[in-house]
Amino acid sequence: MSQVAPQAAIPSATPTTDPATEVLTATCPECGSTITFARAPRRHELVRCPDCGAELEVTGVSPITLALAPEVEEDWGE
Ligand SMILES: [Zn+2]
Repeated sequence: MSQVAPQAAIPSATPTTDPATEVLTATCPECGSTITFARAPRRHELVRCPDCGAELEVTGVSPITLALAPEVEEDWGE
């Protein structure tokens, strides 16, 4: 019997993340590759996956979650 623990296991008891040591990574929902952020993204910020080129929207920041951005062209609706 072998117990395989993922290296990036996050203790569920972790109270809050320290911005200084926070790991700014998220998983691309399109290709599954890990995207690393140079800084903490803001919610609704658009990023592009360097691997597959998909445009992604930041849907959460703690932890960082990504969703495929809606394909819109010249959306001036805001
Ligand atoms: Zn991707």
